[in-house]
Amino acid sequence: MSGQEKTIIKNEEWMCAKCGVSLVPKNTIFAYMGMTFSHEVLRCPSCGMAFISKELADGKMAEVEQLMEDK
Ligand SMILES: [Zn+2]
Repeated sequence: MSGQEKTIIKNEEWMCAKCGVSLVPKNTIFAYMGMTFSHEVLRCPSCGMAFISKELADGKMAEVEQLMEDK
């Protein structure tokens, strides 16, 4: 609707730069502005580091902010 293109990670395999292993999608719980929400993010199965794209961060944060404003 906004006309913005979104980067979809699909065929491309993401690797942890530190461990050199493929990242796996894992449901992760975030807390932001007193609210919690879960989203599937890519995580390294070895060191557990989560890789959150800017698109996801911006999108989710904006969503939470909207939810709060709509109340
Ligand atoms: Zn790692």
